[in-house]
Amino acid sequence: MLNFLGKGSAFNTKLGNNSCYIQKDNSMLLIDAGGTVFHKLQELDLFNGLKNLHIVITHTHPDHCGSLGEIIFYPFYYNQIKPMVYFPDRKLMEGYFKVIGVRNEMCSLVSDMEATIKDSSLGEIKLKFIKVPHVETIPAFGFIMEADNKRIYYSGDANSIPDEVLSLLKNGSLDILYQDTCGIDYDKNAHLSINKLKDIIPDELRRKVWCMHQDGYLDSETAVKLGFNLV
Ligand SMILES: [Zn+2]
Ligand SMILES: [Zn+2]
Repeated sequence: MLNFLGKGSAFNTKLGNNSCYIQKDNSMLLIDAGGTVFHKLQELDLFNGLKNLHIVITHTHPDHCGSLGEIIFYPFYYNQIKPMVYFPDRKLMEGYFKVIGVRNEMCSLVSDMEATIKDSSLGEIKLKFIKVPHVETIPAFGFIMEADNKRIYYSGDANSIPDEVLSLLKNGSLDILYQDTCGIDYDKNAHLSINKLKDIIPDELRRKVWCMHQDGYLDSETAVKLGFNLV
């Protein structure tokens, strides 16, 4: 359902920063805007003809937010559009905008925990943010997204899966679960190791789980053997 522009963890530069999008006609929904993402969008010529841009941000680490400035500036100047940015912590994002020089008229910030996007091409997309445990320094959010009669969960960076999401998965109400997954496993890890993921997700539900934000230690063969998918 989601097209990935990159699928690596912050330091796994080979795979690019974890980010994805949905595009229909002249509209795009982009999820996260790490340092490598603007370059990738340009490389794929995805700004060409773009008329509506919705950007969902999970948290403000550089591998999720590092090129957000360019991704707002470029369409503002070249496509004459004002992107919508969805991020629940308004104060934090306004502070970031101030630092990087994004002015009020360049984008609209939506900071509700639940938001509905109504787009002429993408249709109606419902977002429900959920605060997730990641690091102590900044807030991080995952979200449930409903679009095209599908319900997905996108973890952002998180070292666990919220109970609410696990319940939806277990009662058959979730179509896809995208989870930040790493190979390395240690105490106080900011990300979820494949080792812990396999303890959380029962065998028969793993086909619905897609591992993203992959670090250099995640062995794809092991993940697939366990029944998970890799983005
Ligand atoms: Zn990250
Ligand atoms: Zn992070």
